[in-house]
Amino acid sequence: QQITNHLPTAELQALDAAHHMHPFSTQSDLAKVGARVITSASGVRLKDSEGQEILDAMAGLWCVNIGYGREELAQVAARQIRELPYYNTFFQTTHVPAIALSAKLAELAPGDLNHVFYAGSGSEANDTNLRMVRTYWEQMGKPEKSIVISRWNAYHGSSVGSGSLGGMKGIHSQGGLPIPGIEHIDQPHWWAEGGDLSPEEFGLERARQLEAKIDELGEDRVAAFIAEPVQGAGGVIIAPDTYWPEVMRICRERDILFIADEVICGFGRTGNWFGSQTLNLTPDIMTVAKGLSSGYVPIGGSIVSDKVAEVIGATEFNHGYTYSGHPVACAVALENLRILEEEKIVEKVREDTGPYLQEKFATLADHPMVGEAKMIGMMGSIALTPDKSARAPFAADAGTVGYMTRERCFANNLIMRHVYDRMIVSPPLVISKPDIDLLIERAW
Ligand code: PLP
Repeated sequence: QQITNHLPTAELQALDAAHHMHPFSTQSDLAKVGARVITSASGVRLKDSEGQEILDAMAGLWCVNIGYGREELAQVAARQIRELPYYNTFFQTTHVPAIALSAKLAELAPGDLNHVFYAGSGSEANDTNLRMVRTYWEQMGKPEKSIVISRWNAYHGSSVGSGSLGGMKGIHSQGGLPIPGIEHIDQPHWWAEGGDLSPEEFGLERARQLEAKIDELGEDRVAAFIAEPVQGAGGVIIAPDTYWPEVMRICRERDILFIADEVICGFGRTGNWFGSQTLNLTPDIMTVAKGLSSGYVPIGGSIVSDKVAEVIGATEFNHGYTYSGHPVACAVALENLRILEEEKIVEKVREDTGPYLQEKFATLADHPMVGEAKMIGMMGSIALTPDKSARAPFAADAGTVGYMTRERCFANNLIMRHVYDRMIVSPPLVISKPDIDLLIERAW
């Protein structure tokens, strides 16, 4: 039997539950409920096997920045597959797609971030970063400088290294994570954890936890601090204004490297090419993936500063993936960047559709169950609460209300995501104003 879109949905769902193990899912539930089968997509809309049109306010998993169905990317992929479908970049070989994409990323990235090490995903890229910062200090004659500090509730991937770098208790509770050599400090989540402090006081207090952690461990044992400019999967946590300047001061003064995980924030999501530009950060390494190819093909990477690349490049770095700099992925990513640039999509997020969405999104705070509705660029979240003034979560059953709200949205043909009791939006960056209106209407 050929399995195609034409099979009845129930049959597809049964085959799916029987043979396909889903990430971040309870597999046994899928046999009971059945996964929604997505069959095609165009612009900001998905179509499912029942013919329903769904507004995708999550851009897939925060990645389809230029929207679905761009023929140019299909053409480039087909051309590249015909010309050179694969060759590796190990052992002194290279190819034009990897050269061209690296040069383009060096041009777009801020400061002296001029060098790219490729991976197949954000998780792999963060694994690279973990090894790279430690190798950097080994090469500098300080091998004991090996601990990486991260934040609770951060998400940096789910491989052994990146899952350990992240700070999600659910991930740490399975499979022996975190590995040693990684330490966590608290997140700058004022709404949920700020207590009586003002956002400004709280931002400083949380930034100074980094300094306290470095003191506790000893500066000569700390290699790097890793953080997302805006925590995405943790619930779109936008730090108070005082947080980042203080963190940057500490990284500079304490001689530790800073890794900005731009997997979500990169490629226009916050209204600039990188979240680091929006928040005035100066990373030594940036992790990229997702929006780099708008999710059309798997690709990730580390964009590395002159300072770090020079040290790493002085010896053989015994690290790499079969698909590091995959030619088809590089060619598609380059075409994606051309579209983002030519259609001024990043500028529109900053100056036009982004502010429009922010204004509409803020109105959700008028709902009796919404504690705050915050957004930066085109990523935002609302906090569901039983008590606005107390900034209280639904403590006893954290996540249940979020889950139910997500299901309501889904039934309403709107994809929003929930993290505990926060509801997230992060639509394709090409979303139009009428579709923004529709998004907000369906969210209400
Ligand atoms: N880093 C951040 C900030 C992410 O949001 C993600 C994925 O959501 C990752 C890393 C991991 O990327 P991937 O799923 O491509 O491995």
